[in-house]
Amino acid sequence: MRRIYLDHSATTSVKPEVAEIMLEHLIQKYGNPSSVHSFGREAKKGLERARDQVAALINAQPEEIVFTSGGTEADNMAIIGVANKYSKRGKHIITSAVEHHAVLHTCEVLEKKGFKVTLLPVDEYGIIRMDDLRKALTPETILITIMHANNEVGSIQPIEEIGTLAREKGIIFHTDAVQSLGKIPVDVRKMNIDLLTGSGHKIYGPKGVGFLYVKKGIKLEPLVFGGGQENKYRAGTENIPGIVGLGKAMELAGEEMNTEMTRLAKLRDCLIKGLQQRISNVTLNGHPILRVPTNVNLSFEFVEGESMLLSLDMKGIAASSGSACTTGSLDPSHVLLAMGLCHEVAHGSIRMTLGHENTEEDIQYVLEVFPAIVERLRNMSPLYQEKRKECAECTLKK
Ligand SMILES: *Cc1c(COP(=O)(O)O)cnc(C)c1O
Repeated sequence: MRRIYLDHSATTSVKPEVAEIMLEHLIQKYGNPSSVHSFGREAKKGLERARDQVAALINAQPEEIVFTSGGTEADNMAIIGVANKYSKRGKHIITSAVEHHAVLHTCEVLEKKGFKVTLLPVDEYGIIRMDDLRKALTPETILITIMHANNEVGSIQPIEEIGTLAREKGIIFHTDAVQSLGKIPVDVRKMNIDLLTGSGHKIYGPKGVGFLYVKKGIKLEPLVFGGGQENKYRAGTENIPGIVGLGKAMELAGEEMNTEMTRLAKLRDCLIKGLQQRISNVTLNGHPILRVPTNVNLSFEFVEGESMLLSLDMKGIAASSGSACTTGSLDPSHVLLAMGLCHEVAHGSIRMTLGHENTEEDIQYVLEVFPAIVERLRNMSPLYQEKRKECAECTLKK
C-alpha cells in the first residue's frame, strides 16, 4: 500500500548524507574527543565541524553552541539554568500558553520551587500580543521564554520584537526554535536572542541530540555535572555520531531552505484549499500567513480527530492530532484551547506536517481519500445534529 508521511513536526527521516557521516564516526572515527591521540583528534575534529555548522545556520559563534541530548534538555538547561543562576536578581519568568511541554512543565517545576510564572495568552491565531508582554514585565522578571514557531499550528511569534524589548529591559530571552530551524530564517544577532533551542530529529538529523545557543556573557547553572565537556555546561562524553549528524543536517537545511520551503508552501496551500473545497465545516487553525511552510492544522467539525487519524492510517496516511507528546491523552490540545477553540472543535483537529518526501501526487491522494473518511464518520455520529447546535457558541466558528 501507498504510505504517505505527513508528520514531519513529530520527527523526520535521517538524510543519507547525514547517516553517512554518522556511520563514519561510529565505525572508524570512534575516538573520545577528549583524548590527545590521533583517534581523539579525529573525533574532536568532527565535533568542532558540527559546532561550526550549527553556529552558521543561526549566525552565532561556534563557542556559543552547547550540544545536548535534544530539544527537551536544551529547554530545561535554558530555563532552569537561568532560574538557578539569576534567582537573586528576581524570581519571575514569562512564557506563553502555547509552548511545548518541555518549556511548560519545566516552568511548572520552578513554580513549585517558589518562582512566579506568567503564562501569556494568545490571540485566535496562537500569537502573543506585545502589549500583554509589556504589561507582564516586572522588576523581578529574569527570563522571557517564547517559542519561535509553534509545533501544533505553525504560527510564528514576533521574535525580533520580543528580543528587542528584552534587550532594552536587560531581561534574558530564550526561544525554542525547534520548529523554525531550516524552515524560516533564524538569526540570533538580528533577533536579539540570548538562548535558543534546536533539535536534530526535526530537521532530518538523528534523535537524541540537540543544542542550546548561549550568547557570550550569559551565564547558566548546568543541569549535569561531571567532566568539563561543552565548556563545563554539559558534562559527559559527547554523543559524537549524533552531533556530527546534527551538524550535517543543519548545513543541508541552510543550503536547501529557500527552494524546499517554496516547494512545500505550495503543497501546503494546495492541501488546505483542496480539503476546504471538498469538505464542509473545515477551518484552518493558526495564522494564515505567519506560519511555517510545512504546517497544516484543520478542524473538522463533528468528527473525532482520533477517528480520522485511524481511518487515514488505514489508507496509509500518517497524520497527527496535535503534538506527538499529547497523543494518547484524551485532553484536547492546550494550544487549540488557548486559541479559543471549544473542546468539541479542538477534538476534531488534525495536524499534517509536510516535508522532504512529500510530492504533489501525495497531496492529490490525500485529497482523494479524505472527503469519504469525514463523510463516513459524520454519518456514523448520532450526535451530529446536536453537536451542531452546541458548537454554534464556539468562538472560532466561522
Ligand atoms: C520536538 C520539540 C521539542 C523536543 O525536542 P526533542 O529533541 O524531541 O527533545 C521541543 N520543542 C518543540 C517546539 C518541539 O517541536
